[in-house]
Parts: sequence; C-alpha cells; structure tokens
Amino acid sequence: MGKLITTAVVSVLLIVHGAPVQSRERTGLYDPAVEARVDALLGRMTLEEKVGQVVQYSAGQPTGPGTGRTDYEDMIAKGQIGSLFNISTAKEINASQRIAVEKSRLGIPIIFGLDVIHGFRTVYPVPLALASTWDPLLVEQAARVAAREASSTGIRWTFSPMVDIARDARWGRMTEGAGEDPYLGSVMAAAYVRGYQGMRLDAPDSLAACAKHYVGYGAAEGGRDYNTTEISEHTLRQVYLPPFRAAVDAGAGTIMSAFNALNGVPTSANPFTLRQILREEWGFRGVVGSDWESVRELIHHGIANDRETAARKGFLAGVDMDMASSVYHDHLADLVKSGEVPQARLDESVRNVLRLKFALGLFENPYADEAREAGAMLRPDGVALARKAAERSFVLLRNSGGPLNAPLLPLAARPGAIALIGPQAEDRASMLGSWAGLGRVEDVVTLRDALAERVGAANLVYQKGVGMTDGTDAELAAAVAAARQADVVLLALGENGPAMTGEATSRAHLGLPGRQQELLEKVVATGKPVVLILFSGRPLTLPWAFEQVPAVLAAWLPGIQAGPALVRTLFGEADPTGKLVVSWPRSVGQLPLYYNALNTGRPANKSDLTNPLGDSDDTYVSRYIDERNDPQFPFGFGLSYATFRYGATAINGGELKASLLKTALREPAAGDEAALTVSADVTNTGARPGEEVVQLYVRLMGTSVAQPIRALKGFQRVALAPGETKKVTFNLHPNALALWNDRNQWVVEPARLAVWISPDSAQGTPAIVEVRP
Ligand code: BGC
Repeated sequence: MGKLITTAVVSVLLIVHGAPVQSRERTGLYDPAVEARVDALLGRMTLEEKVGQVVQYSAGQPTGPGTGRTDYEDMIAKGQIGSLFNISTAKEINASQRIAVEKSRLGIPIIFGLDVIHGFRTVYPVPLALASTWDPLLVEQAARVAAREASSTGIRWTFSPMVDIARDARWGRMTEGAGEDPYLGSVMAAAYVRGYQGMRLDAPDSLAACAKHYVGYGAAEGGRDYNTTEISEHTLRQVYLPPFRAAVDAGAGTIMSAFNALNGVPTSANPFTLRQILREEWGFRGVVGSDWESVRELIHHGIANDRETAARKGFLAGVDMDMASSVYHDHLADLVKSGEVPQARLDESVRNVLRLKFALGLFENPYADEAREAGAMLRPDGVALARKAAERSFVLLRNSGGPLNAPLLPLAARPGAIALIGPQAEDRASMLGSWAGLGRVEDVVTLRDALAERVGAANLVYQKGVGMTDGTDAELAAAVAAARQADVVLLALGENGPAMTGEATSRAHLGLPGRQQELLEKVVATGKPVVLILFSGRPLTLPWAFEQVPAVLAAWLPGIQAGPALVRTLFGEADPTGKLVVSWPRSVGQLPLYYNALNTGRPANKSDLTNPLGDSDDTYVSRYIDERNDPQFPFGFGLSYATFRYGATAINGGELKASLLKTALREPAAGDEAALTVSADVTNTGARPGEEVVQLYVRLMGTSVAQPIRALKGFQRVALAPGETKKVTFNLHPNALALWNDRNQWVVEPARLAVWISPDSAQGTPAIVEVRP
C-alpha cells in the first residue's frame, strides 16, 4: 500500500453542522409575514376547531381499514377536518372544499393529499428505477409533471418522496425509494422536493412534498414490512437521516412519521427523532403527519393500552396530524382540557398546519380550476419524459452471446424472426408499478405493441409462455416451439408490479415467481440467442440466469412508455446508461447487503486497504462457507453499449487544502473552493458514442468510529465519443470528508483518506492522502 500513499500534512479543526441552506426560505414556511397571519387566525379558533386542523381522513376510494367514517361532509362544515386524501377529481375536491370555505365558521381550507409517487396520470418508472438514472434533473422534471397533473385536480400535497434507505431486497418497498446509499438518496430526495414544490409553493401547480417514512422504516428486520428496527444513533445519523435532512433543506413542507419501532420506541411516538432532531437540530417548520393509523397502532406496539394514551403519546412526541385513525379527533380536546396535553403544544401543531396552508396559497386559491384538469393530463412533453426516464433507468447487467463473441445487444436493425415470450410483454398493469396514481392501463404502451410496430407483425411471434405465477405445460411447450423457430428470443419475465412490489409485499424467496424459471431454462436450452428483460421492483436472485443467459437487462417497472423505451434500447437508438442503486444479491442468505459496509476485524476480501496487516488466514474470516460475500453485481454497476477505461485516480497537487477544513461545515455552495480536488481520465474504448456515470468514493481510516469501506460522495455523467478521453474532476467540499464521530458530532477528523474515481463501487485503485492535525 505504501506506494499508493501521497502524504500531505494538514490541520483539522472540529467542526459542527452549520446553518441550513437558503433554498427552503422560498417556501413561505420560514416567512415572518406568514407567521403573523397564522397567529391572527389561531387567536380566533376554538379548541374544537384547533383539533380539526390536525385531523386527516381518507375520503374517497380506497378508504382502507379503520377509517370508520362516512360523515366527513358534516365534519368539514363543523371545522373538524384539516386534510383529506384519496379524492382525485377537481369536481369532488372542489365540492368538499366549498363546504370548508363557505360553510365552516372560519372558512379554513382543507389541504387535499394523495400518494403521487412516480407520476399521477403520466406514470413514470418506479422510484428505484428513477434513481437508477443517476439523473437528478430528470427526476426533478418527472416530479414537476406529476405536480402539474395532480394539482390540476386540487391536490396540493403528495406523500412522496419515500427516502428510506433500503439494504434488503426482501423488503417490497425498496421499489419506492432511491436504494441503499445516503448520498445518492439525498440527491434524489432534494430533486423530488424541488420538482413537486416548484419555484414557489404558493403557485397553483405546486404540491407540498412529504419525505417519508421517518425514520429507519427500510431497516425492517428480515426485510419484513412494518417490522422492528434497531439502529444505533451513529448509523441513524450517518445512513438513515441524511436523505430526510436533504429533503428538509430543500424545503420539504411535510414529513411522515413511520410504522416501525426504532430501538423500542415507535417512530410515530419518538421524541428523539421527531423533536430533538427534526425540530431542534434541523429547525423544520412544516407539518409532521402520521402514517396510516400509525398513532393508533401504538397500542399494538405495546406503548399504549388505549386510544387516548396513543393519541397523547403520538401528539406529545411531535406527530402534528393523525392520518386516518381518528384518535386525535376523539381524544385530543379532552387531553387538552385535562392538562395532559398543554394548550401550547396543540397551538404549535395547529400553527404548523396553518403555516403550510398559507404557504401553499390555499386561503387565496382554495379551488381547483376545473377547466385546467383535462388539459393537464398526459401532455406530450410529460409522456416524452416518461420514455426518456425509462430509457435512462434500464441497467444492462450482462451483454454477451452475439455472433463472433460480440455482445448480443443492441440488436441488428433487421434481426430476423423474433420470438417475444413471457407474461410481462403485454401486462399493462405490471408496467404501472406499485403506486400508479391515476395511471390507466390503456395509457401503457407494452413491449409487445411497440415491438410489433417496430419490426412488423410478420417478423414477430408472441407467446406468453407462462403467467406471472401460474402456467400450463401446453403454454410452456408452445413458447419453446416459438423460440426454436426464431433467430432471436426476447424473454420478458419478472415480478408482477402491483401485486408483488410496494407496501406489504415482502418476499422470503427472490427468484422468478411461478413457473418462469422453468420457462427461462427451457427457452435457453433451445440454444437460440436470448435476451432476458427483467421486470421487477427489486433485484432478484437469479444465479442461473446470470451464468447462462447471454444478455440481461434490468428494466424495473418502467411506466406508461415501457414498450417504446425498451424497443429503442434493444435496437440501440437509446443506450442503457443506468447504474444499480442497490447491491444485487446472489442469494437471499446474503441479505442485508450493501456496499458501504464496515470492514470488520476479519475481512474476507484481501486487498491492501482491507487487509493492511497482511493477514493470510482464509478460514476464520467474515464469510459464508457456502456463498460468496460479494454481490452478483455491485452498487453503481451497469454496462453500456460503449466501453470505458478509467485511468488512475489522482489527487491534484497531492494535498488537501487544510485551511478550508476550518470553515464551518454546511452544504457546498456555488463558488466554494474545494478542500480537495481529484481527477481521473476516462476513455471511451468502444466503437459507439456513450455516456458514463463516473462515480467518486471515499474511505476514511483511523477515525473515532469505523467508517464504510467505501462511501459515494459524488458522480458525474460524462459523454464521450469513440476513442475520446476526458479528465473528470471532482471538487470535494469538507462535508465529503466529514463523519459522525463517537460523540455523534459532524466533524472532520484526522484520518487516512482513500479516494476512488471508478465505474462502480467495486472497481478502481484509490489515491491516498493523510489528513493530520
Ligand atoms: C403507506 C404510506 C402512504 C399512506 C397513505 C400507508 O400505508 O405506508 O406510504 O403514504 O399509506 O396512502
């Protein structure tokens, strides 16, 4: 390792987290003029009207379990409801709003919400796929289209983005987030918030964003949804909190508390996360809403024996608004009267809700413009963006098996007879993923439709082969026969979008469901060139496929433009440039699996960095005796139709700018000088122009708390012509070199720093620099 070390002696100061960035100031949530209006209104409210503002119900379909109310119109007129969700037409929303504004004593408008997760009517790829684009601007644009469409109906609050870090593919909600990395997760969280909330929150086409599920929900033990989580404060701060912090700093109007218990304290009654971190440390001024009945569920958790206690505990801990369970409606007024909940605490939550409503301009513009609604949906620019998003989200996992050992993809312009096989080729609902919003199956262009249009019906045979979870021998045989007749086979297999991904869809087995593996093996046995197009909301453990199938494309659940995006990609009009945002497991036994792990004292993988003592034992090391440690494909991995070569990572000038480490740590701003500049040459060694997502990783060694063997700190998308080389340079702000120390302070510590510029989290040779006080 010695030869790698470039030594630089630098001074380091202990530095704590600085002031929030300016961007959230534009929301109106931090505006004294808004505060004056909130106070004036609050002064006129009765106790019952105040409680009404912190009550939220699902009004339309689906109403879900436990709502138990059909009298919400009467309640609105009495000022007993602050928010409604699950209504999604301008006519219905305006009808309810009219009651609030015209019939209730104070005329306080309702805020209408919905789960607008990956599009509203124009359905985009699922969030895990959107993150795989590594293109935050594209994600922001998709969120903007969703906001434009949803707001046209009067919805002004989306329960998105889900920013839960997910390290376990068994957890079905992995599909709703940006994967396993806190840095990428933070970048994506901020992109969604900017997209939904737009330039101004009070513009009629803006939605308040909601970062959820606060916090640690993705760490559910065993990947089983809603399960318990145990997360140290260090890991909470270093891994699970950063995307929430990024959403708050980007101005997110709301946060949703989660279902899970965190270290024994349910997150919907957790004063440490809800009050100390969110309000006191981060200065959040928006609304904390509960998840669906999560306050009532405190009884199931075992920290309350009745609904009143659940209401008191959730509310005192800092959950402003109760979603769907009615426990605030039923008990909060009495709790205030008895003094168990201080009046000032109620006022604080009501202020948070009113502040959001003023900031959204709801008092000035309570109604949706019914004339705008129809014209807002499925506009060509939004649909074109759906195709582009899908194209950029595909991750090419394998590409071999073409003539003369060339890659099989892209297909030749005239590939001969194509057999398209598999249930996903024409399953419209599956393409819409787990949260389809108002997406309709008829909006989806399937792979089968798009392919038939492209190659002509005469060159295409379609066989379903098997169903998603069922299938007959006859169907299977017909598919194999079709494969035998073809020059190339496209197999469209995977998980059923709505049924097998998303909430409450944890899986203990991550193979292809039903008889799909059998179909795959029989088709591959024909000896024909096979492209497996894998549709899923998470990585699937398919070791056989990754050995035997020449070309595999992870298509995720691509949204309404699935077909055109896939066809353009298969034929090379679009390059797959997506990269994995989760480590792809070989087997379920490896889970949880994540690249940014700690090294342990007995590392199995022996490199200069992981094994500085040169230990040679291979038995008493951290490993499985029957499985490899490394993933099938690492975080950050993705092939392209171009190929790239990376030169060595170089630290410019060979040193850190120590003086810059003395400035307060805060978000980097434009014009900031970098504490460290690193670069590497990247060359397109292929015959086609290509785009590469160049990634920057660091490792800190010798710190007070053990740090991950690699941690992403930056990425850039670089376009390269064939043969072209570009020097790719990253400027590292002191934040990139900071960590949460053994006293849970955010600091730069003396350390040995390794830096990689690499195509994924597993490749590359680091440059090393010493950071010494
Ligand atoms: C989910 C949330 C969602 C809410 C409202 C809950 O079951 O956990 O993510 O926003 O329902 O639909």
